Amino acid sequence: MFLSLVLLISVLIHQRDAFSVSSDTEAMKYLSNFGYLDPALGDTSTSFVSGETVRRAISDFQSFAGLNPTGELDEETSIWMSKPRCGVPDIIHEGHSTRRKRNANKKVSRWKKKNLTYRILKYTTKLKNSDVDREIARAFQMWEEVTEFKFTPKMTEKKADINIRFESRIHGDDLPPFDGPGRILGHAIFPESGEAHFDEEEAWTINETNGTDLFQVAAHEFGHILGLDHSEVKPAVMKPIYDGYERDFKLHADDIQRIQRQRHLVLPDYGNWYLIKILTAIGFFY
Ligand SMILES: [Zn+2]
Ligand SMILES: [Zn+2]
Repeated sequence: MFLSLVLLISVLIHQRDAFSVSSDTEAMKYLSNFGYLDPALGDTSTSFVSGETVRRAISDFQSFAGLNPTGELDEETSIWMSKPRCGVPDIIHEGHSTRRKRNANKKVSRWKKKNLTYRILKYTTKLKNSDVDREIARAFQMWEEVTEFKFTPKMTEKKADINIRFESRIHGDDLPPFDGPGRILGHAIFPESGEAHFDEEEAWTINETNGTDLFQVAAHEFGHILGLDHSEVKPAVMKPIYDGYERDFKLHADDIQRIQRQRHLVLPDYGNWYLIKILTAIGFFY
């Protein structure tokens, strides 16, 4: 009896340790995947990285998430890290510089044209194709209403500006791979690449409280397609976390201001075109 008790306690202690190492490793992976830590540190445990580096990364994440920036991996922080989210990093590293910048708008390029075509190259098995077509069109329309962009679906085999695909796990790009149900829901590449991918393993739904709402995630990913990075404003469409189905989902003033500010610099009328060219040449925008 005594021996069994010792064995049981030993198993419980072992399991607790295993869990704590595992969540610690997960946290490191999360912080490196989403720009808070050097990506090379993503596969290590916190014990191999300086405590100060980890604390600063956790504190940066907490600030972004609107939590108290204690630098400690407390329960609330772990809960936030477990929420479903977009796979695009929150902080974009500036080339070889160690300086981290929250706002990637100066770094990312922008579309030079305003009439963009799109194609859905790979549909999901979770929804009818016609429903996907409709939700994707609605998501583009949301951005169309506040910009000069015009999005047109392309049915022919010809190359479109924006390719949309439902993919699983590793699927041939440099972003963190999809990870099965939950966690990463989708990701997209900044202009002028035009790639938006959705995780096929999510329970995609339309206007339902259960599952993952395709319209909401698509609207977010198309913000990246247009050059926006993540916003720290909680109700913004460009927040990185997916907070569940919202009946009245629409662009927030923060999203509208950011896209309009960006477009104002990029698509001037021809009178300003040379001025913009000169400013770009001397590095004013980058
Ligand atoms: Zn995102
Ligand atoms: Zn991808």
